[in-house]
Amino acid sequence: MSSKTEETPCIHFLIVPLMAQGHSIPMLDLARLLAGAGPLVTYVTTPVNAARIRPIIDSTVFSGLSIRFPELRFPATDVGLPDGCENIDLVPSFDLYIPFMKALSLFQNSLKDFLRDDAAAGSPPPSCIISDNFLAWTTPLASSLGVPRLAFHGTSCFFLACTLLLQQHRTEIEGAVTEKESFAIPGLPQAIHVTKSQVSWGSNYSDPEWLILLEEAQAAERGSAGVVVNSFEELEPWYFETYRNLSGKEVWPFGPVSLHKENVETKAARGKASAVDKEHVLEWLNGQASGSVLLVSFGSVSSKSFRQIVELGSGLEAAGWPFIWVVKEAAADSGWPEVEEWVAEFERKVGERGLVIKGWAPQAMILSHAAVGGFMTHCGWNSTLEAIAVGVPMATWPHFADQFLNEKLVVEVLKVGVEIGVEEPTVAFAMEKGSEEVKVGREMVEKAVVRLMDDGEERKERRARARQLGRLAAAAMAEGGSSSENLNNIISYISENDKRKKLKNLEIQKI
Ligand code: UDP
Repeated sequence: MSSKTEETPCIHFLIVPLMAQGHSIPMLDLARLLAGAGPLVTYVTTPVNAARIRPIIDSTVFSGLSIRFPELRFPATDVGLPDGCENIDLVPSFDLYIPFMKALSLFQNSLKDFLRDDAAAGSPPPSCIISDNFLAWTTPLASSLGVPRLAFHGTSCFFLACTLLLQQHRTEIEGAVTEKESFAIPGLPQAIHVTKSQVSWGSNYSDPEWLILLEEAQAAERGSAGVVVNSFEELEPWYFETYRNLSGKEVWPFGPVSLHKENVETKAARGKASAVDKEHVLEWLNGQASGSVLLVSFGSVSSKSFRQIVELGSGLEAAGWPFIWVVKEAAADSGWPEVEEWVAEFERKVGERGLVIKGWAPQAMILSHAAVGGFMTHCGWNSTLEAIAVGVPMATWPHFADQFLNEKLVVEVLKVGVEIGVEEPTVAFAMEKGSEEVKVGREMVEKAVVRLMDDGEERKERRARARQLGRLAAAAMAEGGSSSENLNNIISYISENDKRKKLKNLEIQKI
């Protein structure tokens, strides 16, 4: 990507993330990439979220990039959320998700106050808003400022294109199949079979208030000048083309952002502070054979019942490979003694063969270590792309939202994954301590791990494909690569727009 030159005009990107790890992590990377090319960038955050990423903020500011991190008041208490509940992963129970989304909507008042004060202080006005697409209110805000809004989607283009195709064919699908019957998504170049419950965002989303939020988000996208996605053109070319055709939008893939050049300190600090000393993790990984370790991690939101944790652990134990298992349910602040006790006993049993991380892990750092040869994932898009970026094949265990479609992309389209065999979305979002749910038995875990990690032709071919994707990903992010060029294209598009706007204002003044 080009560095700041005489021709780079003083344009200003206002970046408004959704306060959820899977959304704010890639948007922060995007903010840093844009600032690295010259423009002024304002990345909006809140006190609790800023405190979590303080090492990244400090190192970004220290590096001299023109980027600001205003910490705006988050109206959690105005909607009945606990004080400090400023991120989806802090929402204590499922019934508080809607209030959280309401707080996100009220957050626009904090942003408007900031913009007014910022203008009064003489800061350049935004030239563009890049907003998480769920924050529908940024579309009218951008219009009121007279600037384009670019919609950020925290998912694969495969998911975006399939969703539009499913909507296009909704009536025929509705009438033809029941909730659990599988059908082929119409209009795809290969037969991809799904059930309605896998693609309807899980039963959590049948709540009318969720449906309204989803509709508002779609309308907000229609009112956007373009779309930015953390992916790369070479990964899913057919789906980019289809999505562009169906949405009629400019679409700029700019990832994988996890390949953004940075030192191990900031790589280990993505999202929030690691629950474990990174040096300890690196030391443990350095002691393992190349490609022998399985990483097991399920993102920032989904959680498992106690019984499910036991089944998973027993499967890992039986499979016999070295592993790092991220058990967020055993985090010090989760207050779940049953899990903590069981995990302590499990650690004694597996000894040196396994490393259990109780809480937040430095995931991108672990995945990029040569000892890691497989990743058991919930198919959250960031985790999926982080594995693709470093050529690591996956065992797929989708829970809800876009994850079942991401699984199809990994297993059936890219052929770099082994499915564990989950058929139905998991309902629980936050820790449901009373839940008895078991979706995956220990034998299913063991079988998938053996298939993923065992030496044999199938594994060799899968690894070769994964490595090839890793090479393509690196090339996309390198100078002159497609994602790097797309960042330049976004900047050019906005600076041209800015110039036109200034010219028009001058003409109006002359009149
Ligand atoms: N992540 C991490 N440590 C953890 C859990 C998650 O660094 O212990 C990061 C992960 O690398 C990814 C993001 O958090 O960047 C999770 O996003 P994803 O889309 O995979 O899943 P979500 O959390 O949205 O379900």
